Amino acid sequence: MPHYRWLIIGAGMTGDSAVKGIREVDATSPIGLIGAEPSPPYNRPPLSKGLWKDQHLEQIWRDTPQVGVDLHLGCRVIQLDKTGKSVVDDRGTVFTFEKLLLATGGAPRHLPFDTTGNRIIYYRTVEDYRRLRALVGTGQRFAVIGGGFIGSEIAAALTLNGKHVVMLFPEAGIGARVFPAPLATMLNAYYHEKGVEVLVGEVVTDLRMRGEQTILTTQGGREITADGVVAGVGIQPNDELASAAGLPTDNGILVDELLRAGHPDIYAAGDVARFFNPALGMRLRVEHEDNANTMGHAAGRNMAGQAAPYHHLPFFYSDLFDLGYEAVGDLDSRLVTVEDWKAPFREGVVYYLKDGRVRGVLLWNVWGQVDNARALIAQPGPFRPEDLTGRLPA
Ligand SMILES: Cc1cc2nc3c(=O)[nH]c(=O)nc-3n(C[C@H](O)[C@H](O)[C@H](O)COP(=O)(O)OP(=O)(O)OC[C@H]3O[C@@H](n4cnc5c(N)ncnc54)[C@H](O)[C@@H]3O)c2cc1C
Repeated sequence: MPHYRWLIIGAGMTGDSAVKGIREVDATSPIGLIGAEPSPPYNRPPLSKGLWKDQHLEQIWRDTPQVGVDLHLGCRVIQLDKTGKSVVDDRGTVFTFEKLLLATGGAPRHLPFDTTGNRIIYYRTVEDYRRLRALVGTGQRFAVIGGGFIGSEIAAALTLNGKHVVMLFPEAGIGARVFPAPLATMLNAYYHEKGVEVLVGEVVTDLRMRGEQTILTTQGGREITADGVVAGVGIQPNDELASAAGLPTDNGILVDELLRAGHPDIYAAGDVARFFNPALGMRLRVEHEDNANTMGHAAGRNMAGQAAPYHHLPFFYSDLFDLGYEAVGDLDSRLVTVEDWKAPFREGVVYYLKDGRVRGVLLWNVWGQVDNARALIAQPGPFRPEDLTGRLPA
């Protein structure tokens, strides 16, 4: 029965960062890292960006194996006993621990009509990348379901690789849940110019096979034939292990400011954790890289005894063909938005306002302003829309 002073479940970016955090405090005690994927930790963002441009697969791997950790890969933990301080994996191995980190991330949502489960790539892992790469080698026509982060990045990646892409989603514009309506509408036209067939307000209702091809049927009565189908329709936090063990969950594992998950020796971090952020005055669950890295690192240090509250307001970023952005805070397009363009839809800042406070800032092709955006969100205000124009340099 392996025993670890520090045990981590989930060998993603958060798990890797936690290992590094622990090693800053404790150079020698055994660390166990259990991961359901067969691969050691790697960076996920290149799967939908760099690997379709100039990056190579060898460049995505993290250096986790080099910092002194026992990797147990291809093992899924199926049970957690918080009183006995042990977990069991799907091979029946029991691991005991002094302190545990749940870094189990999220699993892609599947579409209800996809009963076979093998025609659509719900894009998340390096295996999904390999599968799509193989299809790109033979196929020409691709359908991308979803207009959020994953859908918009994969549609751009496939188009840049010479494929015909049909992108479809129920909203009125690309990224419509995040971007103000004029920007989302502009993105529809921009993607169209780049060669993507963008179908807005379309919901896929069924699929059938014809040889190697997949035929999608939409609510609007369209049929789309594709050599490959990718879906990016959101993720669900992998919090079942925690809830079955009696730890507090609510669409994610609830953690306190030291990242403890309702038990003095059990922590949670990354995409799976819901934490309180003082600047926004609310609990957040963030599905982005900066949070995975920073929170994982903080959880590792906290577990190892260097406890410090996690008050970080994470930023996130994405690339859409030649456009790129960084963003901080609550980017909900239903809030009041103030658009401050230096060049319309090419360079500028969008502020998200609620009750006189700035809740979020979108830095559109504007770089080096993330900390200033964080400082603005922390300010009590009150701000009126007209106070914000020119507030951050575009
Ligand atoms: C294609 C793609 C592109 C992205 N691009 C960006 C970007 O441009 N910018 C940005 O900010 N963010 C981006 N993200 C988001 C970012 O990658 C995630 O926020 C980050 O990977 C979360 O890391 P995590 O370790 O918390 O969770 P995950 O990455 O989900 O890792 C959790 C790991 O735990 C494993 N696991 C789960 N349950 C168990 C169990 N019971 N036992 C063992 N193992 C288990 C899973 O298999 C998984 O390997 C992107 C994500 C994807 C998928």
